[in-house]
Amino acid sequence: MADDNARKCKHGGCSCTVSGDSDYCSEYCENAHKSGVTEIGCGCEHDPCR
Ligand SMILES: [Zn+2]
Ligand SMILES: [Zn+2]
Repeated sequence: MADDNARKCKHGGCSCTVSGDSDYCSEYCENAHKSGVTEIGCGCEHDPCR
């Protein structure tokens, strides 16, 4: 799996990988990041964050 576009989700505490143009793996992370919430974990419910 050598995906040059793979990046980590911008939301701190999220372990998901994002591909494509998006900075976040989900709306959850986008909203959480924009509202300035600092979380230890992530609630996006993707497998890496369970
Ligand atoms: Zn996550
Ligand atoms: Zn995320």
